Amino acid sequence: MSICIIGSGIIGLSTALAIQEKEPRAKVTLVAESFSPDVTSDVAAGYWRPSLLVDPRTDVLWRWGELTFQHIERLAYREPDTGALWQSGYEMRQDSVKEDFFWKDTVRNYRNISERELQNMGFSQFKSAIFYTTLALEGSIYLPRMLDQFKRNSGTLQQKRLENLDDIGGSYNAIGNCSGLGAHHLITDTSVYPIRGQTIRVQAPHIKHFYVFDDDYYVLQNGTSIVLGGTHQEHDWDTSVRPADFDHIWNGNTNFLPALKTAKIIKQATGLRPGRPTVRLEAERRAVCGKTKTVVHNYGHSGSGLTLFYGCALDAADLLQQAVHRPNAKL
Ligand SMILES: Cc1cc2nc3c(=O)[nH]c(=O)nc-3n(C[C@H](O)[C@H](O)[C@H](O)COP(=O)(O)OP(=O)(O)OC[C@H]3O[C@@H](n4cnc5c(N)ncnc54)[C@H](O)[C@@H]3O)c2cc1C
Repeated sequence: MSICIIGSGIIGLSTALAIQEKEPRAKVTLVAESFSPDVTSDVAAGYWRPSLLVDPRTDVLWRWGELTFQHIERLAYREPDTGALWQSGYEMRQDSVKEDFFWKDTVRNYRNISERELQNMGFSQFKSAIFYTTLALEGSIYLPRMLDQFKRNSGTLQQKRLENLDDIGGSYNAIGNCSGLGAHHLITDTSVYPIRGQTIRVQAPHIKHFYVFDDDYYVLQNGTSIVLGGTHQEHDWDTSVRPADFDHIWNGNTNFLPALKTAKIIKQATGLRPGRPTVRLEAERRAVCGKTKTVVHNYGHSGSGLTLFYGCALDAADLLQQAVHRPNAKL
């Protein structure tokens, strides 16, 4: 039995590993134009926090997120060299809207911060805030580990840009489409659009918490560095690092958190999040290379790929397993 997974970001790699685990005898090939460190999943600070999702199915998102949180928690305790770490910090708002987040019981130590506490902390320009403890999984550390595991499980890699699904060639029993934003062109899904994010990576060991200031700026801890953001420019395909965005991110964050002014800048990056009205995770029967095959789609995770990947990979692997064992079953 042979399965092809398209895409080597967090979604493709986790789907490939999940199907290898379920079907150890399957021949799994991972086809991708780019691999770590050159995919969007490498740019992310990797915080577990549903973000920039417009998908109204909060019960489905909650389940995928919960399974992913549990997975990262296991990594943090058992395999800390995966880049999985606990992080605590604040999200502050200049208005006093208190949102009832569907994910607030998944994270730990979630609590509202009073205006008085904010004033004592020197953040009197903010009217409301929450504090919580979550997990962060640094993509640029975890992705190479997943790739190694995939190869150890006898997986095959193929570096190739596909213009359409027929380009995969071969006689695969089933296909996993984890092409992220690439689905826009690969299968002409024009509902997938870029949400551009530029970041500045700095070293500032004296800063011990994460901070999110309204929807505009963030200071997110990783193991040995901190990621400053953030832009979320919709329908913007530009992957260059723009000086104007650097100024916006740097000035905004240092204005709210002056302790950052002495931070050492180590890297700048841009990534295009795969925005979509809903995450697409479903099986579709369609013609590929002249034959009707099952394609399991798993893409469109927007700003939350590292928050949802594990739960999504388990569901995608179930669908792939059904496709190879019962290829003619009604979907
Ligand atoms: C600045 C920034 C910060 C972020 N922070 C977080 C965060 O803190 N927490 C969080 O959960 N998420 C975060 N995200 C979002 C997260 O990075 C994405 O949701 C995630 O990376 C999407 O993963 P993916 O595997 O679908 O896509 P990608 O990582 O983009 O991988 C897509 C893969 O498909 C391949 N591909 C595409 N088209 C083709 C084709 N035609 N032929 C062959 N191969 C193809 C690519 O080469 C690549 O291998 C952030 C994103 C950005 C930009």
